[in-house]
Amino acid sequence: MPATATGLSHRMLIDGQACEASDGAVLESFSPATGRLLGVFPAGTADDVDRAVAAAARAQGPWWASGPTARARTLEHLADGLEQHAEEFARLDSADNGSLLTEMRRDVAAGIGALRYFAGLALQLRGSTIPAATGELTYATRIPYGVVGRIVPFNHPFMFAVSKIAAPLVAGNAVVLKPSEHTSLSALRMAEVAAQVLPPGLLNVVTGLGGVVGDALVAHPQVRRLAFTGSLDTGLGIQRRAAENAVATTTLELGGKNPLVVFDDADLDTAVEAAVRGMNFTWQGQSCGSLSRVLVHGAIHDRFVERLTERVAGLRPGLPEDPDAQTGAIVNEQQLEKVLGYVRLGVEEGARLCTGGERITDGELAAGLFVRPAVFADVAPDSRLAQEEIFGPVLSVLRFADEAEAIRIANATRFGLTASVYTTDLGRALRFAEAIDAGYVWVNEVSRHLPGAPYGGVKDSGIGRDEEFDELLSFTQAKTVHVRYPSDPA
Ligand code: NAD
Repeated sequence: MPATATGLSHRMLIDGQACEASDGAVLESFSPATGRLLGVFPAGTADDVDRAVAAAARAQGPWWASGPTARARTLEHLADGLEQHAEEFARLDSADNGSLLTEMRRDVAAGIGALRYFAGLALQLRGSTIPAATGELTYATRIPYGVVGRIVPFNHPFMFAVSKIAAPLVAGNAVVLKPSEHTSLSALRMAEVAAQVLPPGLLNVVTGLGGVVGDALVAHPQVRRLAFTGSLDTGLGIQRRAAENAVATTTLELGGKNPLVVFDDADLDTAVEAAVRGMNFTWQGQSCGSLSRVLVHGAIHDRFVERLTERVAGLRPGLPEDPDAQTGAIVNEQQLEKVLGYVRLGVEEGARLCTGGERITDGELAAGLFVRPAVFADVAPDSRLAQEEIFGPVLSVLRFADEAEAIRIANATRFGLTASVYTTDLGRALRFAEAIDAGYVWVNEVSRHLPGAPYGGVKDSGIGRDEEFDELLSFTQAKTVHVRYPSDPA
């Protein structure tokens, strides 16, 4: 494999060995901020997936047999090892996906934090005893699935690579991880560190195209538990495909078109700040939880739009390592075209483009994939701009007249991931929390994820909850044992 700008070999991890694709094919990784080639990495094949699954199946038995305390200790060692390279991971991610280095540092800490969180829960995987007569004992234990396939998206590369392997491993499974082909470098580097700590085959990292490596993993009859984080369309395809060859439990963390509802009793400046933070412009809006629809009460609508426009127009795009930058580069050309396409569509649909939405074509950012953060006002609730996930820095503002209309508009999409409400009326906030179709609701707050709080969506935003104890449980199955023993001494 040719030398790389990162100085790393970028090879996959299968059965404890650093390896290239079975046919030697590679994919290229470019920095979206500069256009610079960062390196090449293996374009894995279905054969590679087969080898990874076989290795995982071999490693899983002894891992499960070693017991929860030993597993937790090993994963704590992994967390320690990863922590020593924290800055390197953050730099790899910001180079590879264009997000700000300051944000990617937070991602690295969050990913390692999740690993420690789940390791700490290892002894909580208790079973139960079921009441029975003398001479009978019935108990249920939690057993692992065996081999787990975990497929993750591009937007938080290291954080997902680490946090999403934690629960299945703690629960006693072996894992085959498939990172996004757009941001695979940090997962491959993570695998190098993991290879020093974990037994061979327990964690395998296979890179390559979704339609090849991802598909082979989903279709593999020995993978009985699949967990996917990514887009709705891919998730729908995975559900169908997984059902073809075997019965596999599949959880899906999908997209969102999440509402932030601002009532007229909210503090205007606070709510404007919330709209900016909630949209995650620091990741160019590339976050499933981004509050990309802001619903504003008619009484404050015009002032809100004016201040929001001013605030977003003032956001400073910059190179990921620039400490003063407030928004970075879009991950790849395809995503950039998608964002620009939605900006054109918004205008065609009659929405008012208040600021941004154009590619930066001058200065040092011209070589990269930078779009000025956009705000649209007068967005019709049933327009495609208001209904479809853009996954880019495009914020839509919609107007409502009263609480009932706010709820109706907020719920009128196929998604249901996150939602937020700004109001000083406690009753209204609680009514909103109850009525809104969302798996995660903030009141006078945005974007925060708390370890131990279930995260996931309703409707087409997904199945399952992550980031808490239920995630760990979801990588186990119950096994019931019924025992008859002599009730009297012989
Ligand atoms: P994507 O669906 O294009 O890709 C996600 C992963 O699926 C990648 O690793 C890709 O290679 C793989 N994949 C693609 N086709 C596949 C196939 N046919 N079979 C198996 N795997 C396949 O998503 P993306 O563009 O990387 O990420 C953005 C999406 O992820 C957005 O919709 C976003 O909302 C969602 N997301 C959701 C959450 C959440 O927790 N709900 C978190 C982050 C991102």
